Parts: sequence; structure tokens; C-alpha cells
Amino acid sequence: MYDYIIIGAGIIGTCIARELSRFDVKVLVVDKEPDVANHQTIANSAIIHSGHDPHEQTLKAKLCVEGNALFDVLEQELDIPVLRTGGMIVAIGDAQERVLEGLYQRALTNQVKEASLISGDEARMREPKLSKQITKALLVPTTKVTYPWEVAFACMENAIHNGAELRLNHAVTGIVRQAHGFTVTFNGKTHVQTRQIISAAGVFSDQIAAMIEDQPLYRITPRKGEYFVLDRKVKGFINHVIYPVPNEKGKGVLLVPQVHGNLLVGPTSVFIDDHEDLSSTAAGLAQVRRDAMKLADDIPFDKTIRTFAGIRATSTHEDFFIAESKEVEGFYHVAGIDSPGLTAAPAIARHLIRLIRDKHTLVEKPGFDPRRKKPHAFHRLSDDEKAVLIAKDPRHGNLVCKCEKITETEIIAAIHGPLGADTIKGIKKRARAGSGLCQGGYCEGAVLKLIARERGLTLEKVNYYHPDTPILVKETKVTS
Ligand SMILES: Cc1cc2nc3c(=O)[nH]c(=O)nc-3n(C[C@H](O)[C@H](O)[C@H](O)COP(=O)(O)OP(=O)(O)OC[C@H]3O[C@@H](n4cnc5c(N)ncnc54)[C@H](O)[C@@H]3O)c2cc1C
Repeated sequence: MYDYIIIGAGIIGTCIARELSRFDVKVLVVDKEPDVANHQTIANSAIIHSGHDPHEQTLKAKLCVEGNALFDVLEQELDIPVLRTGGMIVAIGDAQERVLEGLYQRALTNQVKEASLISGDEARMREPKLSKQITKALLVPTTKVTYPWEVAFACMENAIHNGAELRLNHAVTGIVRQAHGFTVTFNGKTHVQTRQIISAAGVFSDQIAAMIEDQPLYRITPRKGEYFVLDRKVKGFINHVIYPVPNEKGKGVLLVPQVHGNLLVGPTSVFIDDHEDLSSTAAGLAQVRRDAMKLADDIPFDKTIRTFAGIRATSTHEDFFIAESKEVEGFYHVAGIDSPGLTAAPAIARHLIRLIRDKHTLVEKPGFDPRRKKPHAFHRLSDDEKAVLIAKDPRHGNLVCKCEKITETEIIAAIHGPLGADTIKGIKKRARAGSGLCQGGYCEGAVLKLIARERGLTLEKVNYYHPDTPILVKETKVTS
């Protein structure tokens, strides 16, 4: 019998797992996907927002500002990448300037630190590529950028290190209330008992709620966002996160420098019916281009290396919905977690623990270790350090992904790491092999062979990501 089953291994489920692993409780995290961080947590803008945008007095405002500060703690404890860019919200003309002034007041009310209004010229002194049309800007220096799925990996690894368990490819298909807890059914066949359930199922939260409640208090209305990813050769084109003034659809199309040097341009904001429609569309991308060109001149779209889309778990409740079910004791909703959910994630986890502690005793574990260390990226070492490593193990000298400079040893470390991987995309998420200009065109075959060798698989058994997605099917050339 578990004390807590957490449904969903996105940034929210993994942060909650880490917080719960501070206490003497038995925790299981489950996800229907083959990997951690596969939905919203892998397809977003990666911004740790300052908290200037959410409406005053909302959970979004409070937990965004709190979460922004907690990312500094996570950086120290979990060795996650954080790029301190600062943010600028830019206005063009009188009407937008009035919106900007309202936003400045909101930033002050939300207790965003160091927010200030500057002229268009001052904004261009800081960011010379900004459009000449821009007349005023709100500067929010606490805005930063991270690598979202690495944060989720780090939280999950640390939670496991402190006793939590993880089961992937485990879709929750049924929940039944019992006298002292719940029976949870996975994939329609296996059953596990737990005292409490925490649902952090992203765009599927309302489907999970409907398994146990007669009248769920919210519905998810999925909202899609499309992006361009520009090659890291454009590093320095823009150094702040650039936002337009927000509109009724949200924060608008942004320019976002990424931790590895790429530039993200997007997203759109379109309500859709399909909870899993991650397609890029000509219309969506054209909209991104049009809107982005109002922010800066000469955006190097010719350096695009890929496009992608993410789906926000926007809910009819509008604010984050974090509460114990009114109908079913012991079932906790952590739902409607759209933007700024990545920023707020560590604060959401703490907020939930406070709710739980209002009713239950949680006893702290004396041996809790908050630290997780990740291996150094080989290409960031000095020539002398590299030479020492290569002398010890020549596999350090075998550059597999030439674009991102990822070595054989880094791929082996990803395959056998704490959240090991045996798929092409799993390696890409952990080691970045295939994330560069050629998008895996040159290294995918080599990665596939390494996975097969290290896991003792035949080449045809190596999947791209999900079960039954092999890259190779059979040999077509036979040497005699
Ligand atoms: C386009 C876009 C841009 C964004 N930009 C930002 C940003 O810049 N900054 C910011 O702070 N926030 C941003 N967000 C919001 C942020 O990404 C999300 O709030 C955050 O990732 C939510 O994490 P989650 O763990 O709740 O959801 P998810 O990452 O979606 O995780 C939910 C998990 O539940 C699992 N699951 C669902 N149903 C089941 C089931 N039946 N059984 C088992 N598992 C199940 C899913 O497989 C999934 O892995 C953005 C979101 C989008 C889509």
C-alpha cells in the first residue's frame, strides 16, 4: 500500500514527488508515457517568469513569484541550468503604453522585485535589435530561462534517491474508492492500492477527475502554441526575454534566448479540441513570424532548425486549481496548470504539502538529501581536462553528435543514468545528441548502435521513443 500515488511525471508531479520524499511516506509516481516530462513540460517557452503578468490576488501570481525565487534554490541543490536574462515587455504607441503602465502596477502589487519602466530608446540601448517602433518598455530583471525537462529529470532523480518510486508506461485507466484509500488500475489490468492520490495529469486532469468525481469543478480547454527554434549560431541576437504587451489571448509571441544558445520564437494561442494535436501548421507559423517581426528587426528565421507545438492545460477555473476534492476525501487536484506552471512548480509543490499538512501529519525523514549532481558537459572542459579524460578512457574522444559536441561517454552515461534511456529521443532529452543543426541526421545511427550495444538489443529493437517505433526494420543489403 502506497501513501501517495502521483499521477503525472511532468514538472508538477516530479516537484511534488521531491517535496513528499522529504517525509516518511511511501510515494509512487506514474505516467502513461515512456519517459518523464513528455507533455507540457517538454514543449513550452522555458521562461521562469517574474510574476508581472498573472492577475493580482490569484494563486498564479503568488506561486509564480514564489517559484521564481525557488528556482535559485533548485539551481544550487539540483545542478539545473538557469540563464539570468531579465525580461522586457515592450509597447508600441499610446494605447499599448497604457496597458504597460497597468502591468507595471500589477508587477508592484504582485511584489515582483526591481520592475521599472524605461523609454523605447533605453530599451534599444540594452537590446539594439528591438524594433524602432517600440516606445516604452517594462523591465523585469528577475525573469530567467531554464531547460524544463532537465528540471523534471533532476526532481525525479532526487525523489528516487530519497525513496520515491517511478513507473512509466503506466496509464491510469480506473480509480475506485475503498474503505481506507483507493485502488488504481493501470493499462486496464494491474491494480495498486494507495491511501491518497495526487492528480497532476496536465491536459488530462479533467479525465482523471471524471474517474472518481460525479461533478468535477473544472474542465480543461486545451490551448495550442507553435514555435520556431533557431540554431544556437544566433546566440546574442537578443539577450533578454522579449514580450509584447499581453492581450486577451495571453502573453503573445515572444523572443526567448535559451540556455544552450538557441532562440525560441513563439508561441501562438489557439483553443483546440484534440488534447494531443502537436502538429505545426503553416498558418500558426506565419502568425508567429508576423507577430515576432513587430518586436525586433531582421530576426534570422533562415537559421530555423525545427518547429514544434505545445498544448497548455488551460481550465475553465482560470486560476490554478489546487485542492482536495470536495466529493472524495484523499484525492487532490493539481489542475489547470498552464503558464506560469513551470515557474510556479516548486512553489505549487510546497503549497500542496501545506494543504496536506493541514489535515495529516507528515514526519520529516532525517536522511533526506536535497542534492543531485549532474556530470559535466565534456565540451565545456579545458583542453587539459579533456586530454586527461581521453587518456583514461578513449571513448571521451569519440564525438558522436558533432553539432552539439556530445561524446560517446556522455551518451553511455545517459543510457545508464539514474533515469536510464533506451530510445533515440530519450537520449536526445538527456544528452542533447540530435538537438543541433542537423537534428540527428548525422548522429542518429551512431546513437542507435550505442543503445543496442549497451542494452544488449538487436538494432531493430531500438525504438525512436514510444513502444513499437523502431527506426530500422530489416537489413536491405547483405554482404556475402
Ligand atoms: C506553449 C506553452 C508555453 C508555455 N510556456 C511557459 C513558460 O515559459 N513558463 C512557464 O512557467 N510555464 C509555461 N507553460 C506552462 C508549463 O509548461 C506547464 O504549466 C507545466 O509544464 C505543467 O506541468 P504538468 O506537470 O502539470 O503537466 P505535463 O507536463 O503535461 O504533465 C502531465 C503528465 O500527466 C501524464 N498523464 C496524463 N494522463 C495520465 C494517465 N491517465 N495516466 C498516467 N499519466 C497520465 C501525462 O503523460 C503527462 O506526462 C507553457 C505551456 C505551453 C503548452
